[in-house]
Amino acid sequence: MKCICPICNATYENIVTACQDCGFFDKFGINRIFINSEDAEIWHNTVVEPYRMKRQFDRLGNIYGKQSQKLYAVRAELKEARLWREEAEKRLEKIEKMLENLTTPELPKAPLSPIFQGVPEVGGMVRFGRFDWRVLTIVAGNRALLISNEILEKRAYHGDFEVKLGMERSITWEKSALRKYLNTQFLEMFSKEERGRIVVTRNTTEASNDTNDYVFLLSLEEARSTMKGNADRVARYSGKSRSTTSWWWLRSPGRDQHRAKSVYGDGHIYVRGFNVDDSDGGVRPALWINL
Ligand SMILES: [Zn+2]
Repeated sequence: MKCICPICNATYENIVTACQDCGFFDKFGINRIFINSEDAEIWHNTVVEPYRMKRQFDRLGNIYGKQSQKLYAVRAELKEARLWREEAEKRLEKIEKMLENLTTPELPKAPLSPIFQGVPEVGGMVRFGRFDWRVLTIVAGNRALLISNEILEKRAYHGDFEVKLGMERSITWEKSALRKYLNTQFLEMFSKEERGRIVVTRNTTEASNDTNDYVFLLSLEEARSTMKGNADRVARYSGKSRSTTSWWWLRSPGRDQHRAKSVYGDGHIYVRGFNVDDSDGGVRPALWINL
C-alpha cells in the first residue's frame, strides 16, 4: 500500500509514519493514500495543519534567529564604532587644546654663512672670498660694509696704456678705469655664491653721476665717518716683497678732476689728491654684503 507525505508529497511504497524527506511524523499512522474522508479531514486538521504551521513557524524563527544574530553583530559594531568616535573626539579636543596653548617658537638666529669666517661686528674681521675684510658698518644686523684689510694691489685710478690722460679733461668715478676694473675683473674673483651676497650700492660721488656698484672705493665722507682717526686708516701692502704701509685711493675727486683724493700711508687724508694716472696708488675695495 502506498503512502504519501502530506507536507512535502514524497511517496513511499510501504506504510511509514515518518517522512524521510521532511521529517513529518504521523502519530495516528493514517498517512495513506486511501482513507475515508472524515478521518482524513480530522487528521488533516489535527495533525497536518498544526505540523505545517509549526514548520512555517520554525522556518520563520530560523530566519528571525539569523537576522537577529546579524542585527546583534551590527549593533555590537555600531557600539564599538561609537566608542571609537567618542575616543577620537576626546583626543581631537585634547590636541586642539594643546595647539591653542602652543606659541610659535622664535626662529633661531641664522648662523654666519659658511662663505664668511670671522666676527661680523664693527671693527672685526671677516674672511670673504679670498680676502680678509674689515667690518666698517653693520646695518639692521645683517648688512655690512666691508673694506679690504690690506691694500690688495697697486693700480692707477684712471689712465693706462690705452688712454691718453691729457685727452680727457675731467675724470669722474663713473668713467674711471678703476671702477670698471673693480666691477668686472675684480668682481669675477668671487664665486657665484659669494657674488650673490654682494649688495649693489647706489653711490653718490662729487662731480660724477650716481653709480650702481658692486665694488667701489670709499668716498672722502665715508673714509671719515667709518674710520675713526688716522691710525684706523693705515693700511699695509704686501704685494712685492715685505709688507709696508702705503697710500691708497678714495673715489672722490681731488683738487681738480685729474686727481683723486687719497689716504697717505700714515692715515692722513690727502684732500688735494694724487694724479689719477699714478700707478702706485693702493686699491682697497669696499662692498656691502648680506651677512
Ligand atoms: Zn515529507
